[in-house]
Amino acid sequence: MLLDFCFSDREDSWEWVDSVDGRFSVAMCKKLLRLNRDQGRNQNMQWESWVPNKVNLLVWRAEFARIPTRDALVQRRIPIPTMSCPLCEVDDENLKHLFIGCGFAYGVWSFICKWCKVDPFCAFDFKDLLLLCDNIGGNKWRKKIMRGIVMVTIWVLWKTRNAKVFQQKTSRVGEVVAEVKSFSFLWIKNRSKFKNVEWKDWSDFPLYICN
Ligand SMILES: [Zn+2]
Repeated sequence: MLLDFCFSDREDSWEWVDSVDGRFSVAMCKKLLRLNRDQGRNQNMQWESWVPNKVNLLVWRAEFARIPTRDALVQRRIPIPTMSCPLCEVDDENLKHLFIGCGFAYGVWSFICKWCKVDPFCAFDFKDLLLLCDNIGGNKWRKKIMRGIVMVTIWVLWKTRNAKVFQQKTSRVGEVVAEVKSFSFLWIKNRSKFKNVEWKDWSDFPLYICN
């Protein structure tokens, strides 16, 4: 055991091998813990403070395919009357279809992009939705607002889907967009530093508050 050990006449001391100068710091320790955790979970979602926990949690669960879409129910051998997507009734429902491939969802995203004055996005996977705000230039809050709006849109789409499945309530694309605008307005006004945001300005162009 001691064969590879090199003895010296120096006094013994503790050394933190993961730092440059050998000194321990709590910050370095936290950084290492975070690094290990992030590598382990490979997650794109970032918790967004101005939207409520229920929205953050849904997006978090969706990223790990932990929401009961119809394909997930079939995989768990739960009997369901149909595989059809409740929003478009054209294709089978799965996570990717519901939030990206679905014609209804596409209509919603198109309006959301126009509202935020960003180019229509290209998403191939659910995870791509969570990375959209990375392409938004400008300050930190522009990214935060865009990230939150994407999350609120996912949440409202899921809510709309559930209303159709459990209450047979059909919504139009315009109604879903209106809900995204009003919920996001309520939360940005009450849960962020932008207390003075005005409904008219927000509903015209939400990123105006970052100018
Ligand atoms: Zn669909």
